[in-house]
Amino acid sequence: MATAGLKLDDNKSLPFTPNSVKLSAIMTQRIPDNIVRPLNALTFDVEDYFQVAAFDAAIDRNSWDRLPLRVEKNTLLLLELLARHQVKATFYILGWIAEKVPGLVREIAECGHEVACHGYGHKLVYHQSPQEFRDETRRSKRILEELIQAPVSSYRAASYSITRESLWALEILAEEGFTTDSSIFPIRHDRYGLKGGPRQPHLVRLPSGRQLLEFPISTIRALGVYLPVSGGGYFRLYPYRLSRYLARRINAGGQPFVFYLHPWELDPEQPRIENVGPLTRFRHYNNLRRCHARLNRLLCDFSFSTVSESIRADYPDLDRLPVHCYGEYRLASA
Ligand SMILES: [Zn+2]
Repeated sequence: MATAGLKLDDNKSLPFTPNSVKLSAIMTQRIPDNIVRPLNALTFDVEDYFQVAAFDAAIDRNSWDRLPLRVEKNTLLLLELLARHQVKATFYILGWIAEKVPGLVREIAECGHEVACHGYGHKLVYHQSPQEFRDETRRSKRILEELIQAPVSSYRAASYSITRESLWALEILAEEGFTTDSSIFPIRHDRYGLKGGPRQPHLVRLPSGRQLLEFPISTIRALGVYLPVSGGGYFRLYPYRLSRYLARRINAGGQPFVFYLHPWELDPEQPRIENVGPLTRFRHYNNLRRCHARLNRLLCDFSFSTVSESIRADYPDLDRLPVHCYGEYRLASA
């Protein structure tokens, strides 16, 4: 197994694309078994298979209403798995989905999970004006709060689309009443990423003086690059033992990691979308069949809870979190 090849043509920042590398080249550190185990953040982005950003050009938004919804069935499957493991998670839910299946949002909340906001219509933040972003975020937050009759204070952007070009969105999130964000992916990628950004949870000091707690998508340095250790397509791409090794390395350093999946990643029977390129097809459909069993193993191997609980447990004194300024930026509408 040590010679198992790993194809990593999923990320343009990796130097070995698209060739294979041996796992033994990455898995070089011995991690002791008796490490203190931080409480990691388990998250799900609740959208359906036809709403992913990679299908934007292939699927007209106006056709969403006519496509068969599978998100409810897939999310209920997730809730069942989480109940079996007695673990809570944060669900970043699209306002569009909440309107279609309001009972699902209530069910998620009634199971004790954290309901959080994934925007309304899965538009990339850097494709919106600040005013559009504010309007759609506010609309989604209001829909979710009315359904669960409780405040929604945690946010994640569609496809992690808070990048250098859209840092202004953080200020709007704080103004709209969000206290926590998990939208920044500190890597280089063709659709998202803020290369060089802090990799651990931190407080963002905004130009207005407000603060926002950022839990960036987890990465770790290996082979001279930052590898995502975070879920989604990477979790389906990597052999499970590589995902576990990388995540354990983060925990061995005393830090929690954030893990994410989408309900459609547990659904190998979803309708296939035509008219997409081979890379998009690979990223979306690779190893869907293995995902449920892998998630089951991950839930056995690590401690998880919601983003809020993970922060509370691992950083009881928020004042001791590192503070980061992303540099001065102006609202484009100012
Ligand atoms: Zn999403």
